[in-house]
Amino acid sequence: MQDKRQFYIGGAWVNPQAGTDMDVIDPSTEDVCAVISLGDQADTDAAVAAAKDALPGWMYSDPTLRLDAVKRILALYQEKADALAQAMSLEMGAPIDLARGSQYGAGEFHIRNFIRAFEHIEFGAPLGDHAPDTRIIREAVGVCALITPWNWPMNQITLKVIPALLAGCTMVLKPSEIAPLSAHIWAEIMHEADLPPGVFNMVNGDGPGVGTQLSGHSHVDMVSFTGSTRAGIAISKNAAETLKRVHLELGGKGANIIFADADENAVKRGVQHCFQNTGQSCNAPTRMLVERSVYDQAVEQATAIAQATQVGPASLPGRHIGPLVSAAQYDKVQALIETGIAEGARLVAGGLGRPEGTNRGYFARPTVFADVTPDMTIAREEIFGPVLSIMPFDSEDQAIALANDTPYGLTNYVQSSDGARRNRMAQRLRAGMIEMNGKSRGAGAPFGGMKQSGNGREGGIWGIEDFLEVKAVSGWDVTAG
Ligand code: NAD
Repeated sequence: MQDKRQFYIGGAWVNPQAGTDMDVIDPSTEDVCAVISLGDQADTDAAVAAAKDALPGWMYSDPTLRLDAVKRILALYQEKADALAQAMSLEMGAPIDLARGSQYGAGEFHIRNFIRAFEHIEFGAPLGDHAPDTRIIREAVGVCALITPWNWPMNQITLKVIPALLAGCTMVLKPSEIAPLSAHIWAEIMHEADLPPGVFNMVNGDGPGVGTQLSGHSHVDMVSFTGSTRAGIAISKNAAETLKRVHLELGGKGANIIFADADENAVKRGVQHCFQNTGQSCNAPTRMLVERSVYDQAVEQATAIAQATQVGPASLPGRHIGPLVSAAQYDKVQALIETGIAEGARLVAGGLGRPEGTNRGYFARPTVFADVTPDMTIAREEIFGPVLSIMPFDSEDQAIALANDTPYGLTNYVQSSDGARRNRMAQRLRAGMIEMNGKSRGAGAPFGGMKQSGNGREGGIWGIEDFLEVKAVSGWDVTAG
């Protein structure tokens, strides 16, 4: 069993000051695979103090030095690719091929995009020809608390740590206590990258403990959080006492609107995307809205795809889906499937309990509900499991109304061969991201939501800008440089 009780503070691995042990559970077997320590106020204070001490040196450093540091981090990240993939697979149940592919790959992709985006960040420039002695300076927000979830561990850590570093912020990372093993390797990378002590710190802990201590800390200038809307609200309220900046990436209930003229793979693509990472993605297309003339056919196709979806342990190579992350997540998904049945949705694939042949591990059955109505719980709540809800629509207007009828606004999807219609839909859907006809958003495109899906943007230029303050200076001596 791995012992990962130490924290990384002030450039060194340190023992917790008090420390409560917490077991890390392998969701494929339900066995304990590691032990971490949950920090307390003294650990949080030590990490924040280290970040605060390191701030002046880092924020006023030459930006090219920060870029060099990120390039070193990229090389180390690549060196540790396999260890990172193994850790993610063990801690949160991503099948090993998914862990080596998208889970590891997302981090590398983001680091590369930030390196490219950094060239376009202007740290100081005149306001304009009409006011040459007014200078607009961009500088680091300050000490940042970075709080991340378990579902895409390296994706979310790189989306926060790298832009914070480039902007000149110092930081305390609190990774998910459910999936802390890959974050531990990440801290080793930061150590080997030879950053000045205190620029990056990591403390493990839970939401009520270190999470709350960070969001309320008077020496933390910004919290960047990814996770549930529930925790996002708690963080916002707690952070309000010190009026710190709060950046939130929260849940979603993505609509995937499939028109009759969609390409022949649209339904298959939608189901597979919904089930990817065992449905544990905030941008999963969990509501499939299908034009009525092709509705029955789509339900049949989705049923067949769900029935053909294999479920298995994370250590097994292949394209199967793994377990849910935890017992709590398994219970939540089961309860929502039960509610779907009780509220009258038509269960066409999967359902309650584990897949046949499994009696251990948090495995859920790939599930499809048809004839879901907008008022049903499964149409409204983020399930975070392999559960798809299908509903029909009759017109473009109705599809837009159904898609927008949610407190969330993260990602919506449109499938149609009519380009003019796609563009109309993209403009009227209330979400931070619209993906059409299965095309991924380009490298460096911003990621983030509207409404209760959050308020910031991560990735590329926008991701770096979120960690910068804007300062307007008059009387700047343009001759002095
Ligand atoms: P969570 O929001 O409880 O936890 C995410 C992170 O926030 C963890 O590091 C956790 O320790 C921390 N945290 C929790 N409460 C906090 C608080 N009050 N103050 C500060 N930090 C706090 O998510 P979870 O328990 O891991 O999962 C629960 C649900 O959240 C899931 O079912 C899913 O719906 C949603 N979720 C969404 C995303 C996303 O990417 N949008 C990611 C993970 C989970």
